[in-house]
This record gives sequence, C-alpha cells and structure tokens, in this order.
Amino acid sequence: MSPRAWIQAHKEALLAQLVTFLRFPSVSAQPTHRSDLHATATWLKETLQGLGFAVELLGDPPVVHAFQAGPPEAPTVLFYGHYDVQPPDPLALWESPPFEPRITAEAIYARGACDDKGQVFAHLAAWQYFKETLGRLPVSLHVVIEGEEETGSDTLYEVLAGKGTAWRSDAVIVSDTAFFSEAFPTLTVGLRGLLYTEIRVKGPARDLHSGTLGGVVANPALALAAILTALKGPDGRVRIPGFYEGIRPPLPAERAAWRELPADEAYYLSLTGAPALAGEVGFSPLERVSVRPTLDVNGLWSGYTGPGAKTIIPAEAGAKVSMRLVPGQDPERIWEAYKRFVMEVAPPGVTLTVDKLHEPAPAFETPTDSPFYRAAEEAIARAFGRKPIPLREGGSIPVLPALQQAAEGAPVILMGFGLPSDAIHSPNEHFRLRQLWGGIEAAVYWYARVGGLSVSG
Ligand SMILES: [Zn+2]
Repeated sequence: MSPRAWIQAHKEALLAQLVTFLRFPSVSAQPTHRSDLHATATWLKETLQGLGFAVELLGDPPVVHAFQAGPPEAPTVLFYGHYDVQPPDPLALWESPPFEPRITAEAIYARGACDDKGQVFAHLAAWQYFKETLGRLPVSLHVVIEGEEETGSDTLYEVLAGKGTAWRSDAVIVSDTAFFSEAFPTLTVGLRGLLYTEIRVKGPARDLHSGTLGGVVANPALALAAILTALKGPDGRVRIPGFYEGIRPPLPAERAAWRELPADEAYYLSLTGAPALAGEVGFSPLERVSVRPTLDVNGLWSGYTGPGAKTIIPAEAGAKVSMRLVPGQDPERIWEAYKRFVMEVAPPGVTLTVDKLHEPAPAFETPTDSPFYRAAEEAIARAFGRKPIPLREGGSIPVLPALQQAAEGAPVILMGFGLPSDAIHSPNEHFRLRQLWGGIEAAVYWYARVGGLSVSG
C-alpha cells in the first residue's frame, strides 16, 4: 500500500492519536507541570512499545529512548524530537483552550501542534506505516524524545554525557523546523546559535521617595536604558567590539537558491504585523533572519508598573538580553566581550551583575552532500511536489551538537514540516493538516530511501 493511500485510510485514527498526545499539558518551564511531563513520557513509551521498540525512560523529566533493530545491512538512524511545550500564556488570546485540540478543515490547533508534538507524530505515524505494511522498519532506529527542549535540555545533556557513543548512528533526523511557506518547501541546513544573558542594575539600598531624594542618586532604570541603547546602533549593528569577527558568509550557490523565494519586505510585514521592518543595514530581511546575528531584549523590569502613580526611584532594574549567533562566531568569546562592554558603558552610581542563563550554543550547520540529505530532498519533493530549497533558519536547537557527538559525528538532517505562520510559542499555535499528511509521507520516503527500500508514491 502506498503511503498516500495508507494515510488516507487512517486519517481519523491518526488524528485521534495526535489529539491524545496534544492533550498532555507538558509545559517544561513550569514546575506544576512536572507530573504532566512524566505522563507524556509514559504515553510515548507505551506507544513506541506498541510499535515494537524497546523503550527506556532516562532521568527526570524523562528522556524517552527507544531502539529497534532493522535489517542487518541497513544503516542506523537516530531520530530526535521533544515532547515538552512552551507555556500557553497569554491564555485569553487563544480562540480555543491550548490543551483541548481543535481540528478545522485546514489545521489542528493546540500548544505543541507544530512545535514539536505534531512533527514528532509525523515520524510515529511513518514507523506505524512500516510496521503495518512491512512488519518491520527499513533501518535500525534510535528514538530520542526529550521533555526539556524549551528550557535548555539539562537532562538530555546529562544522559548524553553518560552514554558516550552508545547511540552510534549513521544519520540524525530531526523534524523541528519549518518550510519557508506552503508553496516553497525548504530543508534547513543551518541554525543560529544562542547566547542568553541577564543584566541586573542596583542603585539605592531600597526604593526611594523621588521627591525627597530625587536628584542625588543614579536611577537604575535609566542606567539600564543607557546600557541597552549602547548595545545596538541606529543602523541595527551590534556595538560589542569584535561581535562580527570571523562570520562565514553564505555560499554564492545558497544566495542564488534564495532568489527563488518571495522573501520581500511585504512578506515579513505580513508575518510580523509590525508597522515597519527594522534591522541591520545592508542586508535583506531573509539574510537578517538567517545568516546575520542579532541582539534582542527579551524582558525588562524595574520600579512601579501598577495602576496610577507611585513616586519612587527604583532600587533595581533588570533585563534579559539574548543574541542569535551565526557560523564563525565563538559564543564564549562574544560572552566575554559582551560582559566587558556592558560594564564599560554602565553609567556611574550603580552596581551591575551580568550572567549567562545557560551554556551558550554555537550556530549549527549541516552538509548538503550526504546521501541522507539527498534522501530528504527527494522525500520532500515526492511528498510536497516541489524540490526543497536549502535554507538556514534563525532559531536554535542548542542540544544538536551534543546529540551529533553521541551519534559519532553523523550528519544531522533537519527535515521540518512547520510553517512560519503556525504561531509556535504564541497563542493559537497550529499545524496545517496538509503539512501533517505530507510530513508523514515524506518521513516514510526518507526512511525507505535510507534503508534502500523502494516505496511507490
Ligand atoms: Zn521545538
């Protein structure tokens, strides 16, 4: 039976299974959801056991690891995904509750529908296809699904450190990225790295009366504002010394391929809803979100923010500041330069602490000349009717280098099926059903091709 016919015949059952997966409120950032993470991992364990895998739950919250041997000559593949999700807040903006999946003619709505449960499910369904139609998988397969991707992957890092190369594989496959658009399938060949920091500015020992004592002390909120504005110029360029040193520009062939994409200003305006675009001068919007580094303030607090007036000089101010890094940038060197720069530009009269909130991750690249990449190209072309364009994505999956190491340096294939309009990390997250069905089909083609099995379309 062709994968397309099989999917057609199983749509109802597959959707019901995905709904079950999405109903778990597996929010890794909030301690109250710890038991939900365990429940999700247990559900995955049982589901994978039903597909013939040997399954173990490792650490807390559990990393689900499963293994199933394929034919003796077949390569070994490591699948990576995550079952945890971002907090659903702000709840009031959801049109239906985030953990009560809603299915329309076009999409399935729920927190995690795209990032990453829906995409993990595309693979689960593909493995089910092989079990039902072939009785076995065409490859040997390690499955690694963690519950802390959204909060730094601490448990998976620990598990990987203890495993050495026990999960040796010939390729790593990940579906946690997106197409450029429904009309333009893409394969992600690079991800930006991440350096996440927090700045705390302290002034007076306590909040002060801004009348009786205003005029003799530095205001921490203003001091923080001065630091933040010093970090980036009006030309959108980050002013940390050495920030842009060593950046490897994209290859001419990459640039040429991007010209096919309708990635103009209007596209990014519609995607963001912003009144105008901004960013580093001299680069196109597509370059600015993929091959150029950025610096952003992610959160900011100080003083009184309740209703009405309260006349104080706040004792403290703070900001979360993160940087997305590109190939060639050394996260440790940038962290040191950043810290030095923040200290230098801080106005007098305040004290400062600058911390990094987790280990900085370098940018990640994947080679396009491996048979596993070509198999992904072919799988997407067959399932979605158009050859994918290789594209670098702006987001980060910081654990990938460690995972690649556990797989003894195997190439990592980023075959994601999301769309930029899926509202991941936002209210009303959804996954287009066309992407779900196409994703299952593409996953089937990929495993089949990698395992040397031919599957009719
Ligand atoms: Zn994700």
